[in-house]
Amino acid sequence: MTDLSELYRDLHQHPELSSQEFRTAAVLAEALRPLGFDVTTEVGGTGVVGVLRNGDGPVVMLRADIDALPVEEKTGLPYASTARATNSDGEDVPVAHACGHDMHATCLIGAATELAEAREEWSGTLLAVFQPAEELGCGARNMVDDGLFDRFGKPDVVLAQHVGPLPAGFLAHGSGPVMAASDTARITLHGRGGHGSAPETTVDPVLMAAHVVVRLQGIVSREISPSERAVVTVGRLQAGTKENVIPETAEIGVNIRTFSEHTAGIVRAAVERIVRAEAAASGAPRDPEIDWHGSTPVLVSDPDATGRTVAAFAAHFGQERLIPGAVVNSSEDVGVFGAAAGVPTVFWFFGGIDFSTWEPGRAVPMNHSPEFAPEIEPTLTTGVDALVVAARAWLA
Ligand code: ZN
Ligand code: ZN
Repeated sequence: MTDLSELYRDLHQHPELSSQEFRTAAVLAEALRPLGFDVTTEVGGTGVVGVLRNGDGPVVMLRADIDALPVEEKTGLPYASTARATNSDGEDVPVAHACGHDMHATCLIGAATELAEAREEWSGTLLAVFQPAEELGCGARNMVDDGLFDRFGKPDVVLAQHVGPLPAGFLAHGSGPVMAASDTARITLHGRGGHGSAPETTVDPVLMAAHVVVRLQGIVSREISPSERAVVTVGRLQAGTKENVIPETAEIGVNIRTFSEHTAGIVRAAVERIVRAEAAASGAPRDPEIDWHGSTPVLVSDPDATGRTVAAFAAHFGQERLIPGAVVNSSEDVGVFGAAAGVPTVFWFFGGIDFSTWEPGRAVPMNHSPEFAPEIEPTLTTGVDALVVAARAWLA
């Protein structure tokens, strides 16, 4: 039987970038097989699916994501990652489990173990789905497109969780929209290059880009109702190679977060309008290019199914360990599974911070921070128990 904290430390020390989770997938498949699951690898790329058929009854899907991030870990932990990898642009980058997906994968192995051992107490089918490439927003879609539900059966419910900067041992849950939709655009502004000493002979794309970046910040503050949630972030701004050369182009990477298709439409249209208008105002020789190349839908935790699952959490953990009303602006593609199968998704958060040993005044690192690292316990046990309790709330 797998020692869970050992498995966690192993995955943590061997993080792999999105769509490159080869070793991770092999380790997880290896841990799942002795439990009696039918295990299939390479589903939708590097995904792993385990099926445990245990008589008549509902089909319950438990999902964990497994990819890591191009982040240099600075936790100082004895098992910190020092891994590096080549990203899809051919660049050498550090890699770390800065989003805690190693914890999700380990919890799912733990839950699969407990449910397999207790199989005379329930009946139905358990689908353990280890999903790659969550951080790219395409992993769930890739698994669905690879015939996940045709090959392994359609679930009655999709259950998943995310570790975060909450107190360890606690669960947080929302009902309805719980994580934002994400839309990403790559924008190329065209100017006319030339000598830095003769700006009158050029159209400066750097100044154009600067105006665009500032103007984009007016969208949320001036065009969206204060009662709506929306975020516009310019996370990438690139132009030029030298101080005295005015470049030909500037590139801007924009990410927006919203909680309704209506608001998303307003923000996307405003981004396009501002980019085109600033290019026109600058006398750009060519229209800008706006490429919306990444999109994750809003994650909805089905209210009825969430109510049923949370009632089971309350019975097991006690109301005092539950934090209601959780809604975050980050995004998750797990909702793609439920939407594709036409069944409810239930999603909750579990804490990873031990506040009893936390130095007062020290900032709590968020997911994606170089310092993000959940305490192994009680985080791991809580995450395993939550998956088991949730699954048992649905299995016969
Ligand atoms: Zn993440
Ligand atoms: Zn994550």
